[in-house]
Amino acid sequence: MKYQEVQNYINGHFVPCKNKRLNVDSPLTGAIISTVPLSTYADVDQAVEAAKKAFPAWSGMTSKMRSQILYNYRQIIEQNEALLAAIIHDENGKTIDEATAEVRKSIELTEFACSIPQIAVGEVLEVSMGVECRTEYAPLGVVACINPFNFPHMVPHWTFPNALAMGNCIVLKPSEITPLTTMKMAEMLKQAGLPDGVFNIVNGTKQVVEAICDHPDIKAVSFVGSTPVAQIVYRRATSNLKRCLALGGAKNHLIVLPDANLELSASDIAASMCGSAGQRCMAASVMIAVGNVDPIIKKLCSETSKYIPGTKMPPIISLQSRENLINYINDAEKQGAVLLVDGRNFASDENADPNGFYLGPTIIDWRNAGVRMPEMEVFGPVFEIISAKSVEEAISIQHESPFGNATSAFTQNGAIAKMVAQNASAGMIGINIGVPVPREPFSFGGWNASKFGAGDITGKSSLAFWSQFKKITSKWAKQEITDWMS
Ligand code: NAD
Repeated sequence: MKYQEVQNYINGHFVPCKNKRLNVDSPLTGAIISTVPLSTYADVDQAVEAAKKAFPAWSGMTSKMRSQILYNYRQIIEQNEALLAAIIHDENGKTIDEATAEVRKSIELTEFACSIPQIAVGEVLEVSMGVECRTEYAPLGVVACINPFNFPHMVPHWTFPNALAMGNCIVLKPSEITPLTTMKMAEMLKQAGLPDGVFNIVNGTKQVVEAICDHPDIKAVSFVGSTPVAQIVYRRATSNLKRCLALGGAKNHLIVLPDANLELSASDIAASMCGSAGQRCMAASVMIAVGNVDPIIKKLCSETSKYIPGTKMPPIISLQSRENLINYINDAEKQGAVLLVDGRNFASDENADPNGFYLGPTIIDWRNAGVRMPEMEVFGPVFEIISAKSVEEAISIQHESPFGNATSAFTQNGAIAKMVAQNASAGMIGINIGVPVPREPFSFGGWNASKFGAGDITGKSSLAFWSQFKKITSKWAKQEITDWMS
């Protein structure tokens, strides 16, 4: 195997685990590159105990002291960018360029965490004669972060650096499909000077997630993954009286008008649908064509030919996921949709291993099928086209989607762009942009079935999730200076 066995990381050390193991397959070749342990409640408990022991000292530091360690960590990520990108490439399949971009985004996220001492500053006011109220951010204790396969480095960095900066100790569960990058994160945090026990990793599947939701000493749970699992996690964690923020799946609509810039719209939409082989929760999923946008669709179809599986487009994460996508395409065709681009018959380049789980870009045109496009998430390089007679109708179609991660408008008309931004039922809006991810310090988070829980997962909004306010009211005034409260 190319990589050593994955171990849990508890109290600053990789600990051998005798549990059963799953294979880690590289989607690039289908080869087994490592194995990952299927941990149990006992392993989660061990990690929680280590985190609990580390908490008093870690939370007792000033936030400036904590951020110094995160500064060191940020430097170490930058020095190891190529190494991290290579591991992401091997376990997730995304191209080296995409993997490098992912690492750079993690650096940006860590930089935000380093800035938290400048932002998470309490307030103070003399509220009555001689009486002062002040607020302070206090950490929660031990918190957990549960992660998906599609951004093995970036998505964990949405949560744990901010949670650490706020003074919490972490139990992190990587996706069992992509656990290798996370092991490197642990090594680099230790190298940066993070005290043992502050950051722990427990590998596995459902059993670990359930143990996290049930463990009485875990105070908050963040989850990123598919909507059905987000719902399970949100219900289970909150029924155990924990706070929870659970991000789910997506089906992102692009409302495209005939006045949209032909070249830029087509290239942007192609990049959005094909990047990471469409395995991004912010990927372009559905075009709602308002009027005749055929020139843009024609140009989009030709743009997708640049995304040749291999160097330019990565494989799908697993054989099962590829089969699900092919079944979806087959069903669409049976129902009368037209395949403008058919990724089932793709030609790959010399860099695509014949055993890799590749699929070409696919564009499904439902406009004359006479049936509705299914509302389900399609997590791959599959783009669908439906139509609307007006922008109002396009917005009402978007509202019928259960999801609400992103919606974009492609137009040169500012009033229409504003109308879409104001009325779409989605947490992140793009104007002439196919992947409208807000960058730091703005926060990331969808609406509806794309997110359960209050607030957003990154940026300033995340600070409230990873902390609780302490309100201190004090009086040091002499007794003669009084009013009704004194
Ligand atoms: P997933 O839901 O299958 O898995 C996510 C995590 O949940 C993993 O750690 C997994 O081990 C665990 N898990 C899986 N089944 C479980 C169960 N029955 N009970 C408890 N835990 C379980 O998601 P995935 O396939 O790894 O990732 C892709 C999904 O994540 C897509 O739906 C994508 O849209 C979504 N995603 C959303 C965002 C967002 O910001 N909204 C970001 C990235 C990915």
